[in-house]
Amino acid sequence: MISARGLAAHEAGADLVPWDFERRDVGPGDVQISISHSGVCHSDIHLVRGDWGEQEFPVVPGHEIVGEVVAVGADVTNFSVGDRAGVGVYVDSCRECANCVAGQSNYCLEGMTGTYANPDRRHGGFTQGGYATTIVVDQGYVVHVPESLDPAGAAPLLCAGITLYAPLRRFEAGPGKRVGIVGLGGLGHMGVKFAVAMGADVTVISHSPEKKADAEKLGAQHFLLSTDQDAMDAERYGFDLIINTVSVPLDTNVYLELLGFHGVFVNVGLPGEPFSFDAPRILNQGRSIVGSMIGPVSQLQEMLDFSAEHGIHSEVEVIPANYINDAYGRVIDSDVRYRFVIDGSTI
Ligand code: NAP
Ligand code: ZN
Ligand code: ZN
Repeated sequence: MISARGLAAHEAGADLVPWDFERRDVGPGDVQISISHSGVCHSDIHLVRGDWGEQEFPVVPGHEIVGEVVAVGADVTNFSVGDRAGVGVYVDSCRECANCVAGQSNYCLEGMTGTYANPDRRHGGFTQGGYATTIVVDQGYVVHVPESLDPAGAAPLLCAGITLYAPLRRFEAGPGKRVGIVGLGGLGHMGVKFAVAMGADVTVISHSPEKKADAEKLGAQHFLLSTDQDAMDAERYGFDLIINTVSVPLDTNVYLELLGFHGVFVNVGLPGEPFSFDAPRILNQGRSIVGSMIGPVSQLQEMLDFSAEHGIHSEVEVIPANYINDAYGRVIDSDVRYRFVIDGSTI
């Protein structure tokens, strides 16, 4: 076994504290990564705080992982020691169902194996994530992080980035498309950068008036304050695609009304509470409500390469390990510009 140190919660709602644990040995198909940076996703906080129900503890969260390959198994062909590598939200899947075979393993019909807090389908026990010194992952779930990207700014691409890139591609964000990003947080700010790079007309829809200047800096053409009823009314039918990244329940009807003909509302936020809307809101204009969950490994690589090509990275505040509990509080207060990233050397 390989010794690792992580930041763990030992029960729901508990602070994260340093914890020594073990990783499996590097198997023939495995890559071992020494973690240099690990992003802090709101999903980590939901899970640790118990927003999504009961689960196994202790948990080392973290699924936005960047580091250096320090060992590879005998059968590994795609990675070498010294490569910069990344791991996202899942580290395994059944590899046999129709979706896995079709390269859509994030939608594995048997359920993907999440990077943390999931039963490890091949090795037993539970997975532990990226707020740690090192991780061992099967090569099929590891990606190359281009050297031209700053590693801290690249880490959040592994979850926040792909979660917005995938629906923007699926619904063909590009010239002539009016795209609204609801919530300018970790996910939302990546959505703005990608949608702008794809050539769409981009509006940030936010409940925080002070984020207007940032929205413009990030490249958004417009800013819509969701608490300004007159401004919201004026944008009725104003969008083709709206992606909701908000971490608390919203009045969905208000956002559906912003969609024009055949407009699509993509929900990626996961507050853990039921989602409701009035049927006439989707009948009108033939609107759709769809969900989207991260993206497959192949698209993760495509998104990282797109990011390198367009110079896209996350806006980050790099923190030492002992700041993690304060950082959680600040994420909940929407007081982060726009992603905390843990400096792995401080764990
Ligand atoms: P985040 O950085 O905290 O951003 C969430 C944003 O929601 C905030 O910046 C804020 O934007 C808005 N918000 C927060 N509290 C609000 C309130 N009380 N009223 C109205 N708006 C509020 O979180 P994140 O890491 O981007 O994650 C967002 C959500 O996506 C989480 O629920 C997370 O679990 C989920 N998620 C889903 C996937 C997926 O695959 N579908 C992947 C990753 C994360 P404004 O200040 O601009 O309004
Ligand atoms: Zn995440
Ligand atoms: Zn599968």
